[in-house]
Amino acid sequence: MKVTDVICHVLQSKVEQPFTSARGWLYTTRASCIVEIRTDEGITGWGECYGPAAVNRTIIETQYRSRVIGRDPFDVEVVWEDLYNRIKDYGLTGMTIAALSGIDIALWDIIGRALGKPIHKLIGGAHRTEVQAYATGLYFVDMDRLVEEAVEEAQEYAEQGFRAIKMKIGLGDPKLDLRRVKAVRETIGPDVKLAVDANHCFTVPQAIRLGRAMEEHDILWFEEPISPEDHDGYVEVTRALDMAVAGGENDFTRWGFRDVIARKAMDIVQPDVCAAGGISECRKIAAIASAHGVECVPHAWGSAIGLAATVQFLAALPDTPPAFRPMPPMLEFEQTPNPLRDQLAKDPIVQRQGIVRVPDGPGLGIEIDHAILNQYKVA
Ligand SMILES: [Mg+2]
Repeated sequence: MKVTDVICHVLQSKVEQPFTSARGWLYTTRASCIVEIRTDEGITGWGECYGPAAVNRTIIETQYRSRVIGRDPFDVEVVWEDLYNRIKDYGLTGMTIAALSGIDIALWDIIGRALGKPIHKLIGGAHRTEVQAYATGLYFVDMDRLVEEAVEEAQEYAEQGFRAIKMKIGLGDPKLDLRRVKAVRETIGPDVKLAVDANHCFTVPQAIRLGRAMEEHDILWFEEPISPEDHDGYVEVTRALDMAVAGGENDFTRWGFRDVIARKAMDIVQPDVCAAGGISECRKIAAIASAHGVECVPHAWGSAIGLAATVQFLAALPDTPPAFRPMPPMLEFEQTPNPLRDQLAKDPIVQRQGIVRVPDGPGLGIEIDHAILNQYKVA
């Protein structure tokens, strides 16, 4: 089998109720670069790149596309090394790797479709056939109702059956953050897990101080307390707090994660399959994490394709550590309204009582709705 074409689709949808996080970007649109790879056997695979879609598309079209056409999709890691070698001299991190991730996922989708097997059966097998999902939400929308809106949204997720929720913090006022976290914890009760995500807005002393104050609210993990470049700072925060510290959604490749993991700068690493190098590379990152006793719980924030790829990867992740009643890695199921996530697959991934069934169809286990693809395509 040979690749005959690599096509990028830039999809974009409008966000009806713009929201922000501690980063301060106002999300008014959601966009994704979707990668379609065609073959001479009529099998088509789909992938997705995290981050600025127009940049991903340019990198693929100018740097990668011609090197993928003519290749055998089963040589997926050979292709990965070749593409990486093409760009490594010019800056390694970020968007070039996200673009490579989209190609890698699409090639795995093709392999699965060719063999009639879901991807997780090709990368080690099913450690689980369903995953527990946590709801990511509780962004900042109405600046006059920051506590009230968080309480209402958390209540909705609990009523929908989610057993775990991740909320945003980082309001520029630790007392307000604490008030919001306390209100959410009181609303959802002691049995729903609660993680917090600061999107790297704190200094080391700020993060340690707020982290200690949040500990009484039984926080599952403190995500991105400080800037991702500051590995020494992560070591300090992680050692200082009893709660788990997480991060890694903006780290890339096995080399990017190697030092973070080996130094145990975080308790939980969160590679994104659409950003950190695709399924091939995230398996390597997970293996490094496993060797160091660090948990790997992938980040996910994209369309139905990225979500499906994440579920396939998660299904094949071993429990860390294995146990009589293990605490398996959870699926990040982002809940802000996004038609690219909810409508792009004819058979979308859904949660029931906080549980997501791992699709067992070939490849990613989803079928793309071409009408939706065309409806949201802007380039
Ligand atoms: Mg995050």
